[in-house]
Amino acid sequence: KKVFLLLIRQMDKNEILKWLVECEEEKLESLWDLADSIRHSNVGNEVHLRGLVEISNYCARECNYCGLRKPNTKLERYRMSEDEIIACAHDTEKLGYGTIVLQSGEDYGIETQLFSNIIKRIKDETSLAVTLALGERSDEDLKVWYEAGADRYLLKFETSDKKLYDSIHPPLSGKKSDRIKILRKLRDIGYETGSGVMIGLPGQKIESIADDIEMFRELDLDMIGVGPYIPHPDTPLGVQCEKSDADAQSSVNKLLMTYKVIALTRIACPKANIPATTALATMNPLDGYEKGLMRGANVIMPNLTPVNYKSFYDIYPSAARSDLSGTDYHDNIKKRIISIGRTVGIGRGDSLRIRKVNY
Ligand code: SAM
Repeated sequence: KKVFLLLIRQMDKNEILKWLVECEEEKLESLWDLADSIRHSNVGNEVHLRGLVEISNYCARECNYCGLRKPNTKLERYRMSEDEIIACAHDTEKLGYGTIVLQSGEDYGIETQLFSNIIKRIKDETSLAVTLALGERSDEDLKVWYEAGADRYLLKFETSDKKLYDSIHPPLSGKKSDRIKILRKLRDIGYETGSGVMIGLPGQKIESIADDIEMFRELDLDMIGVGPYIPHPDTPLGVQCEKSDADAQSSVNKLLMTYKVIALTRIACPKANIPATTALATMNPLDGYEKGLMRGANVIMPNLTPVNYKSFYDIYPSAARSDLSGTDYHDNIKKRIISIGRTVGIGRGDSLRIRKVNY
């Protein structure tokens, strides 16, 4: 069995492609089992919880897929104050989480030094690991925040298909977006580095999804998030999807493809922290988290954004955004983890990846 596992781990693009088009349930069961056993032997049975706080929905970008895009004038904007963010950090710690994830649109109103003070306060006042997901900020900002104590940074490259990426993620101030370059920079600075992709973007080809998985391996990431693309009606891509009348069948395919990519990512990157993403649980509220966790994932990022802001972080339509909050919400997630025979992670849940010397 060990030799078999070793061979699978070194899957080439053709083998990845074969799995991506596989439809036979029995064969797919063997893929889920393999991903689950690799997950178990590499990152264990714990499911780490990261408290997600969406600190601002302002965004300078015009991404065609995202409801936060600047031209979406229908959206009421908010930016949390320092005290509100610190209060969330204390709540996150009280719930027993080891990590807070501070996420926002690409908001240049999040001023470098002021935000650096917020990071320092969280590090002084709690024992939380701090993960940032604030978009494509300058090298200087990223360095200052790392020196202030931020531990990790998430920046999805969204798709490895350059043409598709450029068409859905326009440049800002004439500067072409190069997220791969920023990911390498983040690693150089010292961050634990996370990235990921969306599955089911209009025009996304199966070959480019196989390239995404190869790219995860090449970048040797600490964290990898894979979620379905969910059309937002107030975005150009969402309108395009409405016109092409994407039917229910395409949602089923998108979900299955997302599970396959999670499983193949676990096989390609055995030590990575891989979340069962919120987008996955949004498309499959019934057992999206459970299936993700049983097919390779080992992390959940419960949304701890204060209820008065939650519904305004409208990246895609989601009924769950106005759902339970606080301890009820937390208890429910814990129960779901335990119901599938897993345990809730204790501590920061740092990366177990063995760092390559030459990145
Ligand atoms: N501004 C930061 C950035 O771009 O990395 C962080 C916030 S951004 C809203 C976080 C992630 O949301 C993106 O990387 C993208 O993968 C995801 N996202 C945005 N719109 C989405 C949609 N319509 N469906 C699924 N995921 C979406």
